[in-house]
Amino acid sequence: MSLSTVRGQGRAIRLLGPMLRSKKMPPALLFYGPEGVGKALTGRELGKALNCLAPSASADACDACASCTAASKGIDPDLKRVDAAYQAGLREEEVERQRSVRVDTVRHLIKDVEMTSLTGRWKIAILEDAERLEIEAANALLKSLEEPPSRTVWVLVTSRRERVLPTIVSRCHRVPFGALPESDVLAVLQGAGVTGAEAARLARLSEGSPGRALQLRKLEVSDPDEWAGEPMAPFRLADGLPKELHLARPVAEAHLRRIAWRIRDRGRRGAPGTEGGLRELARLGSYLRSNVDPKLIVQLAALELERFS
Ligand SMILES: [Zn+2]
Repeated sequence: MSLSTVRGQGRAIRLLGPMLRSKKMPPALLFYGPEGVGKALTGRELGKALNCLAPSASADACDACASCTAASKGIDPDLKRVDAAYQAGLREEEVERQRSVRVDTVRHLIKDVEMTSLTGRWKIAILEDAERLEIEAANALLKSLEEPPSRTVWVLVTSRRERVLPTIVSRCHRVPFGALPESDVLAVLQGAGVTGAEAARLARLSEGSPGRALQLRKLEVSDPDEWAGEPMAPFRLADGLPKELHLARPVAEAHLRRIAWRIRDRGRRGAPGTEGGLRELARLGSYLRSNVDPKLIVQLAALELERFS
């Protein structure tokens, strides 16, 4: 693929176009917007376009040369995608245990991008979850941005822009991303091999986020329609969560999304009080991100849905 085939993010890609064509890139970009809508993917495609050996007239990647092929396979040494899995690899820890972006990770990256590339290629570091940068890590990054090496682009990615340190935000060129129309989510799912009724159902539940749709599919969280109205269901759902806290949290989050979607659906069909129900769900979601027991949160969310059954 290439930048022009990223779905549903025309506005972001139009903002990047002139920089790409002139090869005048700001040292740091901040890609912000909902989770799972293609921000890191766009970062990768941007990096591919910058280093493509046979770019198109609009400076987009050819998606066929040796450079593009390496980038698509994730083996281009000049294009780093740094997420929880990357940090877990550096630290030899479990992925689920990476709750913040550590200073060692940022220093490792800085060292890496500062190694001047004799081939004149661009260095691109895509840093996911920028809101999780520890203070020390953010300071290290800011220092590096004061005197950025040439042909280096940091792409900071976040779905919680309000939590990114203001000093970081102010040093970045900001690029907004939005939720995708359901038809685009469906197309992305089909491209990933999800078809038929399952693709349609997930696209409906996704709230415009293909990433979220794929995660729901992976977690196999049951549809509230299957259990709504059963008195013991809230307790059964809670008991069904994985024992380990760090594994239970994403499953609980998926339950909350599905329950919220179901309440919203009932609201569309005229059930009263759904706005209050959705506010309650949002509140439970924020507790989940602190240290409240996911079992309790899932129980309360399921009981909230019962009010609309
Ligand atoms: Zn190419």
